[in-house]
Amino acid sequence: MATARLVLLVALVFGTSGGAWAAQKEDVAAPVIHALRPLAGSGGHLGRHGGVPCDSWRLAVEAYNMRDWRTVPASCEGYVGNYMLGGHYRRDSAVVVDEAVAYAEGLKLGGKGKEVWVFDIDETSLSNLPYYATHGFGYVTLLSPYNATSFNAYVLEGSAPVLPETQRLFRKLISLGVKPVFLTGRTEDQRAITVANLRRQGYSGWMKLVLKPVGFKASAIVYKSGERKKLQDAGYVIVGNIGDQWSDILGTPEGARTFKLPDPLYYIG
Ligand SMILES: [Mg+2]
Repeated sequence: MATARLVLLVALVFGTSGGAWAAQKEDVAAPVIHALRPLAGSGGHLGRHGGVPCDSWRLAVEAYNMRDWRTVPASCEGYVGNYMLGGHYRRDSAVVVDEAVAYAEGLKLGGKGKEVWVFDIDETSLSNLPYYATHGFGYVTLLSPYNATSFNAYVLEGSAPVLPETQRLFRKLISLGVKPVFLTGRTEDQRAITVANLRRQGYSGWMKLVLKPVGFKASAIVYKSGERKKLQDAGYVIVGNIGDQWSDILGTPEGARTFKLPDPLYYIG
């Protein structure tokens, strides 16, 4: 061992090359788990734009390791825009829905029509991408963390497009006999435009649309879990629950199984 250290020291001081040096280097270096590969996929070089590892930031967000964040990091706006508008977001969403459909197809229903599935709306059933594509994926929100006025004006247009993957799940559930329930942080005064928007985008056959009372002050987790409790108390069985925020799927009763769609745009606690 002492000899090996001496050889290494000599190699470090005087420099060397070839297999002998490589072997010595491997002996003392931390074990290599896997060769690092260049960043690829969504964002490409933007994955590390401005020195910020945006792909790592997104993973921390999706895994709920990062909480209470207020804006997309300014240097990751390009990365997030690329992710959302390119194919990556759709691919990630499709994987979630594939799992949800497989789970739903394996359910044993009681035959009394009591099984329901809870759907969030924004960034789950409908997409607000046109709003963010216009206002920026971080830059504008950096200046003003959440511009409720301009966002609500967008909601009132009723023009939000469908998330096709979620609609695939929605229709599958109806065909199986599971009743969809929309549970949204949108407020009751937005009911008419929300219904119109959902219908325009091809949704029909939901059992219930639950909106938040105007002026209701509570966290999303408290509000949404409270509404799910009401469903359960009314005799319904929540077999599934899907949303883009962790606050959609946390809080008892959360549902027999939950599914988290990607959303690196904003955080709702
Ligand atoms: Mg949402």
